[in-house]
Amino acid sequence: MVDLGSQYSQIKIEVDEAIQQVLTTTAFINGPQVKEFSDSLATYTGARYVIPCANGTDALQIAMMALDFQPGQEVIVPTFTYVATVEVIALLGLKPKFIDVLPGTFELNPQELEKAIGPNVVGIVPVHLYGQCSNMEFILEIARKNGLKVIEDTAQAIGAEYAFSDGRKMQAGTMGDVGTTSFFPSKNLGCYGDGGAMFTNDPDLAEKLRMIANHGQKRKYHHDSIGVNSRLDTIQAAILNVKLKHLDRYSASRNQVADRYDEAFRNHPNIQIPERASNSTHVFHQYTVKIQGASRDGLKDYLQEKGVPSMVYYPVPLHLQKAYLAFGYKTGSFPVAEQLCEQVLSFPIHTEMLKEDQEYIIQSIISYFSK
Ligand SMILES: *Cc1c(COP(=O)(O)O)cnc(C)c1O
Repeated sequence: MVDLGSQYSQIKIEVDEAIQQVLTTTAFINGPQVKEFSDSLATYTGARYVIPCANGTDALQIAMMALDFQPGQEVIVPTFTYVATVEVIALLGLKPKFIDVLPGTFELNPQELEKAIGPNVVGIVPVHLYGQCSNMEFILEIARKNGLKVIEDTAQAIGAEYAFSDGRKMQAGTMGDVGTTSFFPSKNLGCYGDGGAMFTNDPDLAEKLRMIANHGQKRKYHHDSIGVNSRLDTIQAAILNVKLKHLDRYSASRNQVADRYDEAFRNHPNIQIPERASNSTHVFHQYTVKIQGASRDGLKDYLQEKGVPSMVYYPVPLHLQKAYLAFGYKTGSFPVAEQLCEQVLSFPIHTEMLKEDQEYIIQSIISYFSK
């Protein structure tokens, strides 16, 4: 699905040198590269504060802790997302209030959002799924009207830009109270291990996030709140410092690959290409189509025989996962998400995709339907 090997070979000299420098100085924890990276990422995204942490799941958890969500309170979350978004809600004793998504852009359905608001709801977690922003203008307005906090799960959309109706443009993760992201190797800005970060524009919240990520302490061995241990390694920060400089180029190559897929499948009767949100750029963490009038799983198996990987993100919506059945949802609760789980298929997309390779992938896909 991704080709991290050829991506590394393009930046090998820079990356090796950055890693070597950490090894030489042995500042493995909280070395200067961590601050350098946080500052560069703040500049890149336009967020006032960037707080690094160990992974994208921790980022979500720390965000909810810093916003003082209390056990028993409810958090609205789309059911069509990666499990991490909901896992931390449950771990903190909160209740996920699932809502359905839009069939075209896969983002949370704004109408459903309004209906889900109730006296126990304290927050909303929009997930910028596959690489484009949810309808943030609407979400922020609803949140403001109802006194709710917004945590943007930006694990798949770093660098995507959202345009408000007044012309303001802001990056994914910088619009809500807190934005969270992941540097898992296959994410658009991936390190060579685990990593994550939180974004905020609020200085008090920034301090709280930083404190919670560091055992609830501001001063060593003085713990003002219950925290966690969640750090970004210096080696990972050093790698990210190199890769951040290439992120725009990476997003551009992903878009090129997506455009070629679009072109190839636009008029295909069985393949519905991804809808582009009108007010967001797309960074194509995934290129995800819907297969209609043919077997999606049949296509997946067929492609595997031809040596073409494809993936189903995600085969089961979260409200129907065994671990989350206790929250009381059932089959039929969210028909759009349930149908998407049967139709979606993601094709290889990465920053070093060769035109010939993509041509082979496209031909293989098309040949399945004319078998
Ligand atoms: C990857 C991902 C996460 C979790 O990130 P990790 O770094 O793996 O913990 C959270 N939410 C979404 C939508 C993701 O894709």
